[in-house]
Amino acid sequence: MRDLTSQALLEDVQRWVAIESPTQDVGAVNRMADHAEAELRGLGAAIERIPGTDGLGDILLGRVPGKTGGAGMLVLGHMDTVHPVGTLAGPLPFRIEGERAHGPGIYDMKGGNAIAIAALKHLHATGRRPRLPVTVMVIPDEEAGSPSSRAQIESEALRHAMVLVAEPSGQGGRLTLARHGISRFHLRTIGQPAHADAYHEVGRSAIREMAHRVLAIEATTDYARTIVLKVGTITGGSHENMVPLGCEACVCVLVPTVEAEAQVHGRLLGLLSVNPDVRLEVRGGLFRPPYVKTPAIQALYDHAVAFARDMPFPVPGERAAGGGSDGNFTGCLGVPTLDGLGVIGDGPHTHEEHQLIPCLVPRTTLWVRLFETLGTPLVAAAQAPGSSVAM
Ligand SMILES: [Zn+2]
Repeated sequence: MRDLTSQALLEDVQRWVAIESPTQDVGAVNRMADHAEAELRGLGAAIERIPGTDGLGDILLGRVPGKTGGAGMLVLGHMDTVHPVGTLAGPLPFRIEGERAHGPGIYDMKGGNAIAIAALKHLHATGRRPRLPVTVMVIPDEEAGSPSSRAQIESEALRHAMVLVAEPSGQGGRLTLARHGISRFHLRTIGQPAHADAYHEVGRSAIREMAHRVLAIEATTDYARTIVLKVGTITGGSHENMVPLGCEACVCVLVPTVEAEAQVHGRLLGLLSVNPDVRLEVRGGLFRPPYVKTPAIQALYDHAVAFARDMPFPVPGERAAGGGSDGNFTGCLGVPTLDGLGVIGDGPHTHEEHQLIPCLVPRTTLWVRLFETLGTPLVAAAQAPGSSVAM
């Protein structure tokens, strides 16, 4: 891609969106991986494709040499979406309305994958190279918590000097400098069954016990400290004419720090049954660890902000994001991680999902500049966003 035009970039994004890729559909996700692989091969990347495990799609890596060697930059993205196959032909077709382009996964995060790779295609087409070696890694299962990719993400991150994540930007283009942690707990109550009419008084209801627990757990939410506990799913009972023997619930917890998570964890494990005749089991814990802003992350951010200052859509600020991403895994390892470099838009995981078309050129340009200028050490690089960067 010699010229970074809105039209060419939108066509790139549309090619990603046209291949639906819900996490659980391994064939669909691998068709997405085929497309990503072709794109990366086309710009001269050395490809590694790791076959999927546990019924999930493949992990794809494309390695691009830099002007200098050494530990380079890891670009992270995910190929999966939450939208089932058929969304494109049904409730969320690819369509343009004014400045908005709609489609499944267009914001989270096919738009981001497309522009990061488009920036590399642009460098390749104009005979240029990133300053540091770049590894593009796209994974198949982020929307399910990256169960099959986490170990690979962590080992790649530790081999790189920094991580740039092409997840959607925050409101208006904010970059993500910290992410809260996410825990999941599975609660199970085991009651005592009985005929619901004839012997109701001797039964002990697992659902009733769980209902008490749900209210108690959600009541510990503390928005001011960003500690949020919410029961996302609940199932129980096996027949309407039976005092229910079992009930299960999944509690999702958002925490700002490891210490806060330990407190919440301890409180949940210490839950006692309201009715001692009903047993309560709690298992689970942290699966996306939190990370906080470090001086190196600040340096990455300052570097990006300086370049974006004179462009349309300058970076309007930073955020600590509530939702998790694969940046949680790399940030908490201490590898400088700048997240939220994807497209600007809204409505992730809904049928209103869209991105803003006018952000495509400036956001891709920002990627080009980051590829061409980011070096190590990060703090030195942040001081000199040179005017000599050609576009
Ligand atoms: Zn995402």
